[in-house]
Amino acid sequence: MSQQQHADQFAPPVPALGGGARRALVGLSRDELTETLATMGEPAFRARQLWQWIYGRGETRFDSMTDLAKSLRAKLSEGFVVGRPEVARDMRSIDGTAKWLVRFPDGQEVESVHIPEADRGTLCVSSQVGCTLTCKFCHTGTQRLVRNLGAAEIVGQLMLARDALGDWPSAREDRAVTNVVMMGMGEPLYNYDNVAKALRIFLDNDGISLSRRKITLSTAGVVPMIKRCGEELGVNLAVSLHAVTDELRDVIVPLNKKYPIAELMAACRDYPGVNNARRITFEYVMLKDVNDSPADAKALVQLIANVPAKVNLIPFNAWPGAPFECSSPASIDRFAQVVMDAGYPSPIRTPRGRDILAACGQLKSESVRLKRAERGALAAQDPAPVA
Ligand code: SAH
Repeated sequence: MSQQQHADQFAPPVPALGGGARRALVGLSRDELTETLATMGEPAFRARQLWQWIYGRGETRFDSMTDLAKSLRAKLSEGFVVGRPEVARDMRSIDGTAKWLVRFPDGQEVESVHIPEADRGTLCVSSQVGCTLTCKFCHTGTQRLVRNLGAAEIVGQLMLARDALGDWPSAREDRAVTNVVMMGMGEPLYNYDNVAKALRIFLDNDGISLSRRKITLSTAGVVPMIKRCGEELGVNLAVSLHAVTDELRDVIVPLNKKYPIAELMAACRDYPGVNNARRITFEYVMLKDVNDSPADAKALVQLIANVPAKVNLIPFNAWPGAPFECSSPASIDRFAQVVMDAGYPSPIRTPRGRDILAACGQLKSESVRLKRAERGALAAQDPAPVA
């Protein structure tokens, strides 16, 4: 399937975050907002003021936008809405990690996770409902793709998280969300247009104002889209490598059959703007007796020899029925040592939010299970319909 066919087949509903007949403003590009106001006879600087209220201050009520004329506020209230997706569940871990199950008007759900650290707060954002890639260790991979998220739904995850964390205005010093990683559910490069539109909203200096260096897009390796992502968005790139041979990667990351390791590494080497100060992150999930030997580590070092890289070792987060186990701490350390000795930073990711099922796709799956159980309970109560 071509990128375009894929985008058409899995397109989000329009409007995504509507308020009945009123048009949603969150998710419009800066140009679209300016054009919308122009059709109402308003100059471009009004669009800038409105943008600052929406993305700089997190304001959702037109009535509170005090530097806009009362007549304009009234017109905006009639025709538009500054909406948020619904929070289906809000879970907080004892380690400070927060996770939201986010529900859209058509009932579809995704997850977003906030991970606070001493020097930053990272929001992990989803790009699709489900995923087509069927990576064998990933729980989202067991859920079929339902659809792409629209830009409004991607941006909506951040707006909702910042509401929940009291993280407005954008200009405050100790922001709760300083970094965004497109590492939630879905493959962002299979929903490029919507992801790009959302990231441009995150980057805009009059609003959310995140720098390119604070945004990371993680891909399983959609090679033809990698260059474009670097040229057009210039965000950091993370690549889910997970295996050092095509033989193994074909199995655990089936996208590898389409874009094998050599092509992927070439795209990484050529990623626009990459250098030793701006490295590509290679994500490597540690699977016991599958990809975690010292020989694997040596092969990994050889693979990335020509790429400014760092390696992020991720202890496998097991889920019920998973066909793998996590490597032992000793073998993870041994692996990290080989990579480090070759001169690459190789931090081991600390699992966060285990008590709230913060691993990819787990909460969503639990929600689907609950719904099935609820449906089952209802079916048991209801008499069979009379034909
Ligand atoms: N499709 C994109 C982004 C979503 S996955 C990609 O593949 O990069 C985000 C990261 O979480 C990937 O590196 C993925 O391999 C990793 N991941 C998924 N399930 C995991 C699990 N159960 N344990 C540890 N890491 C996992």
